[in-house]
Amino acid sequence: MESDSGLVSPAGNNMKAVLCQRCASKVLLPGSARYCRRELFLPSMKKKNALVADGSPDGDMLTDHWLVDDMYTFENVGFTKDIGNIKYLVCADCEIGPIGWHCLEDKKSFYVALERVKHE
Ligand SMILES: [Zn+2]
Repeated sequence: MESDSGLVSPAGNNMKAVLCQRCASKVLLPGSARYCRRELFLPSMKKKNALVADGSPDGDMLTDHWLVDDMYTFENVGFTKDIGNIKYLVCADCEIGPIGWHCLEDKKSFYVALERVKHE
């Protein structure tokens, strides 16, 4: 990501900790995720329950993500209920999200959108 250097190491890992934008809850430690480009639709940020209730939400197509292959890599993370075969990742503390995306058909891929988190 040339536009925001300092986030991705030469090896493709996150150089900074990944935090919730709202409450600064720690989501990922530095070096624990891999940068990945993939187009994923994430609904607009809201509380977890509202997210599940809203069937056809507004949102953004996001392309820059941190990819984690094991949910135990996360320091803190929450999930919505299944929405089709998708679970969205939310902040474990304030439950705002989605900050990321997980497909139930791919157990080893958890995506965290760079635009939806804070780096520190
Ligand atoms: Zn939070």
